[in-house]
Amino acid sequence: MKEHEVIIIGGGPSGSTCAWKLKQKGVDVLILEKQSFPRVKLCAGWITSKVMDDLQFTAEEYPHTMTSLDVRMHIAPLRIGLPWFPTRWDNYSIRRVEFDQWLLKRSGAAVENHSVKSIRQENGRYIIDDKYSCKYLIGAGGTQCPVRRNLFAKSRIKSNQLATLELEFEYPYTDKRCHLFFFYRGLRGYSWYVPKGDGVINIGIGGISSYFKKADNNIHQHFKCFIEDLVKQKLLDQATADKLKVTGHPYFLHSFEGEFKQDNCFLIGDSAGLASMDMGEGIGPAIESGLMAAGEILAEDVYTKTKISRFSFGGPLYWVLDRLVYPQPG
Ligand SMILES: Cc1cc2nc3c(=O)[nH]c(=O)nc-3n(C[C@H](O)[C@H](O)[C@H](O)COP(=O)(O)OP(=O)(O)OC[C@H]3O[C@@H](n4cnc5c(N)ncnc54)[C@H](O)[C@@H]3O)c2cc1C
Repeated sequence: MKEHEVIIIGGGPSGSTCAWKLKQKGVDVLILEKQSFPRVKLCAGWITSKVMDDLQFTAEEYPHTMTSLDVRMHIAPLRIGLPWFPTRWDNYSIRRVEFDQWLLKRSGAAVENHSVKSIRQENGRYIIDDKYSCKYLIGAGGTQCPVRRNLFAKSRIKSNQLATLELEFEYPYTDKRCHLFFFYRGLRGYSWYVPKGDGVINIGIGGISSYFKKADNNIHQHFKCFIEDLVKQKLLDQATADKLKVTGHPYFLHSFEGEFKQDNCFLIGDSAGLASMDMGEGIGPAIESGLMAAGEILAEDVYTKTKISRFSFGGPLYWVLDRLVYPQPG
């Protein structure tokens, strides 16, 4: 049996952040990660400068491409792009394939390539696949996190599930702005066009799963319309559009309900369902929760959901979205 003080399952932003903070205080940490890094993670890769502040690095110190975003919001039926809301944070895009690997390495923690299947508690310790044992266990395995599945059976609220389709590919884009399209063609959600620098763009669409189930158009039909619109607006050429093959991934939006810690075990990031309610932004909350869970282990902080950023825009827009645009389906 391999014994450690803390084992973190999942080496995405939440897991690597938690490990980074614990390693700074000399804690013995092992990360178990089922994929070999660098790995592809479906994500538009939009971060704010708060993420950099929380992780204590600057854009200049980041060794890969980081693009400062000039964001345009297109809100149906308007045909013009409005400038982004002024907030205290600047907006950037990164490529997750690079960002996650860099964060994992920077954490300084030992990483083992292992896909976790079973977890049980025995004599105050957590036993993982009868091979690893730890005093503190962190579930950072994203939407399908085995810690949540094994130990927190009732931690999710189905109506908070976000459905997404997304693609990242090389494309000689000429428009360097980031475009967000809200509610076009009846979409209860939004679609995005995010330039990543180095000739790569990310396009995708997202909305609450329950609305797609009730709506006339499913998410694939909406994606097809979105691609047609990008071609019309000359953001994409037809030959490229014809070749696109899209992939989907569901995840969960912030909810105060649902357990996220018990005994010496904590769920962080997507495994706790922490993405912001309006934009589905999950990297920031993943990092905040990773820091807080580490803080609780170090007896410096208390991990609570109320302290995690819930909104990308701030309360007023969420209020409008919740009541007028996203009322719960009957
Ligand atoms: C299409 C799409 C677009 C998005 N765009 C944005 C965006 O622009 N900005 C933003 O802030 N957020 C965005 N998000 C959300 C963001 O990607 C997530 O919130 C974020 O990745 C959460 O980080 P995490 O560390 O909790 O989980 P993850 O990044 O999912 O990492 C979990 C890790 O756990 C590992 N793992 C899982 N199961 C096991 C197991 N059994 N054993 C060992 N390891 C395991 C996985 O391999 C993975 O590496 C987007 C999400 C999607 C789907």
